[in-house]
Amino acid sequence: MTDFTVLRTAEQVGKLVVKWRKAGMRIGFVPTMGALHKGHLSLVSLALGETDRVIVSIFVNPAQFDRGDDLESYPGTCDEDLMKLDDAGAHCVFLPSADEIYPEGFSTSVHVSGLTDTLCGKYRPGHFDGVATVCAVLFDIVRPDIAVFGRKDAQQLAVVRRMVDDLRLGVEVLVGEIVREPDGLAMSSRNSNLNPEERVQSAVIHGGLSKASELVAEGVRDADRICDAVREFIGMAPLASIQYLGLVDPETMMHVEKLNAPGLLAVAVYFGNTRLIDNVILKPDRS
Ligand code: AMP
Repeated sequence: MTDFTVLRTAEQVGKLVVKWRKAGMRIGFVPTMGALHKGHLSLVSLALGETDRVIVSIFVNPAQFDRGDDLESYPGTCDEDLMKLDDAGAHCVFLPSADEIYPEGFSTSVHVSGLTDTLCGKYRPGHFDGVATVCAVLFDIVRPDIAVFGRKDAQQLAVVRRMVDDLRLGVEVLVGEIVREPDGLAMSSRNSNLNPEERVQSAVIHGGLSKASELVAEGVRDADRICDAVREFIGMAPLASIQYLGLVDPETMMHVEKLNAPGLLAVAVYFGNTRLIDNVILKPDRS
């Protein structure tokens, strides 16, 4: 069992990090919004493999929720989260209040333009400004050598990478692959909001993305053809309502019409009030 500390203020985290740095340790950071599952824990183990000390933040960031009801229905499981992180070998959990992150008078917002115009960015105005701003603040508090993000939120990953490069934040961003349930559904804190029927049907999302991979393996390169097939597959679930489905360049998030290089096929699907996102990288065969 490792040392395990729960801290609530930026000052406390800053002091701990200074101590670790003086001891020559490399620091890894995993930002989360809690309600932790195996996807989050896989990022912690990736960070543990690369660094000497790992800090996980749990902060349900109000700035990245565009709808109040979505924020209110966001699951919270704090005690369980702390136990899971202790077991996973994390060294510190940063559990700030909203005032700790956004003290009175806080007036800055980080906007990454262009790659936030498509996919989730198009449907969740201000969401990625909230993500970029909180990551900038958290990176400043934690000053990590590496920060680990999941590929499940592929547009978020691209936004954070762009911000880190543009602002020269000096953090290495690592990516963890998508961890899935046995039926293929990508693990997500929001899955607990699905009713049993919705949960069963939600497996069509991964089924649809797998269909796209099959088509690409058969030589299909046309984005419309690929997307039509995925729509048809997901449409087999009567409770599914697709918000968007798009094939984009994985770095710029710009739509592509033909798959001449690896492309990101990303989808958002509503089941009732629960919005689920997922994606797959489609790689055209070069032989
Ligand atoms: P969240 O708590 O939803 O903000 O997610 C925190 C981090 O966990 C983000 O970098 C997510 O991309 C990542 N994550 C969420 N779900 C998964 C998953 N199923 N597999 C891998 N990483 C994930």
